[in-house]
Amino acid sequence: MKVGVVGAGMVGSSAAFAMVLQGACSEVVLVDQNEKLAEAQAQDILHATPFAHSVRVHHGNYKGLTGAGVVILAAGVSQRPGETRLELLGRNAAVFKQIIPRILEVAPDTILLIATNPVDIMTHVATQISGLPPERVIGSGTILDTARFRALLGEQLGISSRSIHAYVLGEHGDSEVLAWSGAAAGSIPVEAFGRQVGRPIDAGVKSRIDEAVRRAAYRIIDGKGATYYGIGGGLSRIVSAIAGDEDAILTVAVRMAEVEGVKDITLSLPRIVGAKGAVGTFWPDLSADEHAALKRSAEVLKKAAEGLEV
Ligand code: ADP
Repeated sequence: MKVGVVGAGMVGSSAAFAMVLQGACSEVVLVDQNEKLAEAQAQDILHATPFAHSVRVHHGNYKGLTGAGVVILAAGVSQRPGETRLELLGRNAAVFKQIIPRILEVAPDTILLIATNPVDIMTHVATQISGLPPERVIGSGTILDTARFRALLGEQLGISSRSIHAYVLGEHGDSEVLAWSGAAAGSIPVEAFGRQVGRPIDAGVKSRIDEAVRRAAYRIIDGKGATYYGIGGGLSRIVSAIAGDEDAILTVAVRMAEVEGVKDITLSLPRIVGAKGAVGTFWPDLSADEHAALKRSAEVLKKAAEGLEV
């Protein structure tokens, strides 16, 4: 499968690199308004292919995206001094307005995979601009937050994070919800597993893990200015689920008619991801508190996009 990456900055190039390392697809085309950057990134990543998978990596213009099965949108502008969040959103929406029709002209059957932040709102905007069915406009959402949650639980319980099934729902951001109620190690609740192995998951452990997941991006940005490897890996994982028609369960953002009473909202829930996109949504068991937190998260997102004209 050919995968396009529009925006060859830190996030886009990390996704391309991860796809090469994982062999997630057969061809990667990098597109950026800064053509020199796209070319340099493509060459650098191509040179890793003898150590990884035989992926054809090159840069191109929008025509180069012809027939792409997935196009990752990682293009965006950064905040200007004094600019409000809404103004920044408006400028990023304008970038999407310019890019998306050009992609769909040459790849009408593609799946759009949105990485530009704030990713939930940008996925909402991309769904609106593209006119595609919502399952074909997927935001990376909380895929990385879920990975962090699983990694920390695995560490606490002394087992592989691959054997942990636990999800982060809602906004990719401060209001996200760690769904403890449905969190399982193997097939049993994490609390019961913790008791069995003498590594209890008590209120203190929960609060430490909650904080570590929720604040991870802040700490990374504080140390190195930006986050990109983790999300690059997450984007590659979504691409391989689509390319391999896996029907894998991943927490990604998709526009929905209603969540917890909040209408027309885009946020993350566990979805079944395969060749047709993010086709199914399932609801993990949630406590009353978690339902309320998810509702609050939906409301936070709704409010953040208020006044945004697309
Ligand atoms: P991030 O860390 O989110 O990847 P970067 O600033 O490193 O942020 O990358 C964003 C990329 O998006 C830049 O390389 C920039 O040139 C690109 N970009 C911005 N606007 C457009 C556009 N209209 N078309 C194509 N690429 C764009």
